[in-house]
Amino acid sequence: MSVREQVAGDFIADVVRADLASGRTRVQTRFPPEPNGFLHIGHAKAIITDFAIAEQFGGTCNLRFDDTNPDTEETEYVDAIVEDIRWLGFTPERVLYASDYFEQLYAWAEYLVGQGLAYVDDQDVETISAQRGGYGKPGIPSPYRDRSVPENLDLLRRMRDGEFPDGSRCLRAKIDMQAENMQLRDPVMYRIRRSHHHRTGDRWCLYPLYDWAHGQSDAIEGVTHSICTLEFVSHRPLYDWFLEHLPLPYEKPQQLEFARLELTHTVTSKRRLLALIADGVVDGWDDPRMPTLRGLRRRGYPPAAIRAFCEAIGVNKTNSRHSLEELESYVRTSLNQTAPRRMAVLRPLRLVLDNWPKDAEGKPVVEWFEIPNNPERPEEGTRRVPFTGELYIEQDDYAEVPPPKFYRLAPGREVRLRGAYLITATSRVLDTCERVAEVHATFDPATRGGDAPDGRKVRSTMHWVSAAHALKAHVALYDRLFTAEVPGERTGDPADDLNPASRELLTECFVEPALGGPTAPGETVQFERLGYFAKDDRSPMLFHRTVGLRDEWAGLQKRQA
Ligand code: ATP
Ligand code: MG
Repeated sequence: MSVREQVAGDFIADVVRADLASGRTRVQTRFPPEPNGFLHIGHAKAIITDFAIAEQFGGTCNLRFDDTNPDTEETEYVDAIVEDIRWLGFTPERVLYASDYFEQLYAWAEYLVGQGLAYVDDQDVETISAQRGGYGKPGIPSPYRDRSVPENLDLLRRMRDGEFPDGSRCLRAKIDMQAENMQLRDPVMYRIRRSHHHRTGDRWCLYPLYDWAHGQSDAIEGVTHSICTLEFVSHRPLYDWFLEHLPLPYEKPQQLEFARLELTHTVTSKRRLLALIADGVVDGWDDPRMPTLRGLRRRGYPPAAIRAFCEAIGVNKTNSRHSLEELESYVRTSLNQTAPRRMAVLRPLRLVLDNWPKDAEGKPVVEWFEIPNNPERPEEGTRRVPFTGELYIEQDDYAEVPPPKFYRLAPGREVRLRGAYLITATSRVLDTCERVAEVHATFDPATRGGDAPDGRKVRSTMHWVSAAHALKAHVALYDRLFTAEVPGERTGDPADDLNPASRELLTECFVEPALGGPTAPGETVQFERLGYFAKDDRSPMLFHRTVGLRDEWAGLQKRQA
């Protein structure tokens, strides 16, 4: 992977390099998801950054679950996150859990109480947050702030022993109620909460908050550089305060922040993604329209394309939104190299070759063509594709009265059937609604393989499938989940910008027989002239359109403008 060179020029790498120059001897990072949902493309950016920095400096990167909130976390998410990181192409050095440090964290809390640096507050969270004040608005010290050390210790132990109801008390760090940084105005460290934890079960009724768990977990694990997103900049002084005031036998980790990755036409926040599922907008976390890694995988996105995109956009210091088209262009470039070519007809029109020969028993002859799997990579070989006198072509590829610049099939016109023969349309049959139901044509036997011996040219090459051999398939076409570049920008509610036509399911498609065999989940093929498609790993003969061959969306918008 070329992660190395790309990240080499970024500011995080510069900091790490400077640290190494001034005495740090090793580099260790971590990716710290909360197991309360599935990973999305934004997380991919974080994963790639964490692993790339470790790799670049010969260090290691762990996966650590920040599982401090039992109300929203589940084992199902833990397993999925492990699997998704592997799919993306990374192997954590170790898989760790913040919940493994609950005992140590608690011991450190008693230590801070003993130092007079933490106290038990009997007020509820609403009161506490009202007293915190704001910018230019002084904080109000809690009436419990000056409790004695023995009283605080006694209360903390009784909190742990389950003597008090949920939410009735909490432990706070005693820092500075007038600090300019709100995070330092006596932040809550522990809350009482009786909730079953996916790993520690019912052992605890005291759960640490993010800030009280994160830096200490980093330190315990030996993390040197704790990379996170910009919203944690204001938390950094608190991160450092805890580490400075604890008797840590470890080297102190350093927090570094970079910009979140946001994409146009989609949302990347677990809460918003969850809302899409709850509202029935999508079918689930792995709906191919979702920006989750599961959704992208099902849609047929190669992990290499996601990595290449994340590397190309680099690590930024200010938040910005990248266009979905940019990501799609990486997907297209990657698939153009790897995807086998196949033929599929999405909106079929019957084509009958009136002069096609019959065998001794009067049945139409079947001819097999060797067609390259990928013209860009001859080493991929060929496949055999059956051809007979009855075929399907796309409805779009025939026009009764061809408009200007329409070079495909029309009455009296000759075109090429890809890799097979030149054919000329002779007549058509209309259905009861006066629509073209069937086109008749003749083929020129001298053009086998698709070229005329006399060198005459045709202006169009069309894909086809043999009617007798074709397999029925369903094909899902996808469009932007949201029509607006920034969903919710106008009204504050992304739901107002939902694209009602984000999925179109075609149920009368025909594909060539080679597509009937097993494909690896996520293996994506190119349907010639149509785009890239991924076969679903659950529903047989369902294909998801990964991405079109060209950026049709940009073209459509230009036309509308
Ligand atoms: P969400 O807002 O989707 O719930 P989160 O930040 O709460 O995301 P975590 O599980 O806490 O999700 O995230 C794990 C790591 O991934 C964190 O270090 C976080 O900074 C990073 N991360 C999350 N979203 C993005 C994003 N859009 N771009 C880059 N990094 C991200
Ligand atoms: Mg978070």
